[in-house]
Amino acid sequence: MIVAPGGWLGLLGGGQLGRMFTIAARTMGYKVMVLDPDVSSPAGQMADVHLKADYTDAAALQQLGSACAAVTTEFENVPAASLIALAQHCRVSPGADAVAIVQDRSHEKSWLAQSGFATAPFALVYSEGDLDAALADVGAPALLKVARFGYDGKGQARVNTREEARAAFREFGDQPCVLEGFVQLEREVSVVLARDDAGQCALFPVAENRHENGILDVSIVPARVSDSLAEQARDMARAIADKLGYVGVMAVEFFVADGRLMVNEIAPRPHNSGHYTLDACVTDQFEQQVRALCGLPLGDTRLLSPVVMVNILGDRWHDDGPHWDALLANPAIKLHLYGKEAARPGRKMGHFNVLDADLPRALVLAARMRDAL
Ligand code: AMP
Repeated sequence: MIVAPGGWLGLLGGGQLGRMFTIAARTMGYKVMVLDPDVSSPAGQMADVHLKADYTDAAALQQLGSACAAVTTEFENVPAASLIALAQHCRVSPGADAVAIVQDRSHEKSWLAQSGFATAPFALVYSEGDLDAALADVGAPALLKVARFGYDGKGQARVNTREEARAAFREFGDQPCVLEGFVQLEREVSVVLARDDAGQCALFPVAENRHENGILDVSIVPARVSDSLAEQARDMARAIADKLGYVGVMAVEFFVADGRLMVNEIAPRPHNSGHYTLDACVTDQFEQQVRALCGLPLGDTRLLSPVVMVNILGDRWHDDGPHWDALLANPAIKLHLYGKEAARPGRKMGHFNVLDADLPRALVLAARMRDAL
């Protein structure tokens, strides 16, 4: 089934990823209905209709499902029950099964290990009593991560001793966690891909990612890794999508350590590390999400120019605001802001892409522009 331009598309979640999906969908002539309780949500501002209700609100789900030909999500914490309810009315992608696996770190890590994909050493922690064995298993230092609702380094603590592990577990409210061995990272890379109903995959070029305080700071494309490592990352991402029977856009984040890849996380949606595609690829990850959702042929993922993507966090909103002049004066830089009013430290407010045929030059310019903000 194909949803043609002019049709209604639904979206669970109204953050910046939803906003960019909405813009892509409307550019292609679709109408968009967004479900998000936040009255000023970035995607709601762009949508034809914004349903301001909770993700479990039965009446809102009914309205979304009956108005739209197809519904997708922009965040992994969408309740699986809501996806199942929607699937009674319309096409839903990604499916509840895949989302249920990746939205919980303990399910995700166990599924990866059982499926034969390398990860950092990990142990599941359901109660304080599990911590000693977990620490003995993965070794110190380690990272304790809440199984659900953690993001951008939140719900994570580095621990060296059993006392620190206990204190962190209590601070997280005794909820299920994963304890991960701390990996000496050479690099981090990610792959964004789309998979259609027939199992065809379109993979974007591998991004090299630098994080600060657990939050993505910069993506560099093409990643500065060997061709064979890049190919391995793409092969693994495709194999994960196949094994999940995934339909839609997803991202796989990897650690590189000792020249080997370990899967860190899977995101059942477009990803911050794929924002470079907005300006540097023939098709961007949000158009691709529209295409996969609507059953259209997947777009060309070719890279048109080396690119460096830089996140703009709320920290830049100091006394006299960010200084946009230098950035806007540069014709090779593309600015994207998400329409968020409140700028808090660590909050993703926007990003910019620096395009240059010479990647080292793009990196220098990106750093200079970030400092100038
Ligand atoms: P996550 O939210 O799990 O993706 O973690 C955010 C960032 O923290 C990652 O992108 C890494 O930079 C760092 N990190 C997470 N887990 C580990 C680990 N096991 N070893 C080393 N660094 C990690």
